[in-house]
Amino acid sequence: MTHLELIKQLDNKSNHERLDIIIATLNHLNVKYVTQEYSTGKNLIVDLGDRSHRVGISSHFDRVKNSAGANDNGSAIAVCIDIIQKFKNIDNNNIGLRVFFFDEEETGLKGSKAYVQQFGVKDLLGLSNLELVGLGDKYALWPVGKSSQGRILSTFERVSETMHITTKRFDRIVTNTADHISFQKAGLEDSFTVTCISDEDIETAIHYYKALEFEVDREPLAEIMSNALIFQHYHKPTDTFEKLNENSLITTSSIVWNTIAAMEW
Ligand SMILES: [Zn+2]
Repeated sequence: MTHLELIKQLDNKSNHERLDIIIATLNHLNVKYVTQEYSTGKNLIVDLGDRSHRVGISSHFDRVKNSAGANDNGSAIAVCIDIIQKFKNIDNNNIGLRVFFFDEEETGLKGSKAYVQQFGVKDLLGLSNLELVGLGDKYALWPVGKSSQGRILSTFERVSETMHITTKRFDRIVTNTADHISFQKAGLEDSFTVTCISDEDIETAIHYYKALEFEVDREPLAEIMSNALIFQHYHKPTDTFEKLNENSLITTSSIVWNTIAAMEW
């Protein structure tokens, strides 16, 4: 199954149905998972390999009501499933991986908060959270300052470089909220979010932050933002699988997987 075929299945489905599709896919792949039920939702977690400390890779499966939920965040679900498949293909238990499918990211990071509250972060080396990874050929890593040196972060950058793929650190982005925050707050320093972007998005970001220094009005800022490819369908009914690019998804899977493989296990 291609990434886009899975995202097509997820589009416009209820959050409950989206979780059921993930479960059916994992069952089909013969992959064991556990669920964590908390007061308002349910997370799904897949552990791979035998290590006591693991690299976390995460997606959220809920979508905002008004959106079909393809790039946000069906794209990340599809990449997470592909990472699980890649692990199954090599079946190297020396690698330690925990793949998360979080609930209720869009309503206040509730799923990831519930996870760190119950389980903490001690058995994690770090977390690479995926958000909107289906469009573009470059990667924004955020919120990451110039001096950040996390092990997963630097491996991700080094691997991208060898693949001739551009990554760019952003100490903040426009939306600035994602599940890595729950982990950072719980003390896991090497946690960041990966978003696939294009040259137009980078141009827009530069323009946006310049404007922020001078403009306080929301209107011109919103207009600048609307020029970014990534925000054209963001949280809109038009965020459907047809807008995404299989190559962007394949590249995301490859970088994430190569990063995991390049960690010194
Ligand atoms: Zn999202």
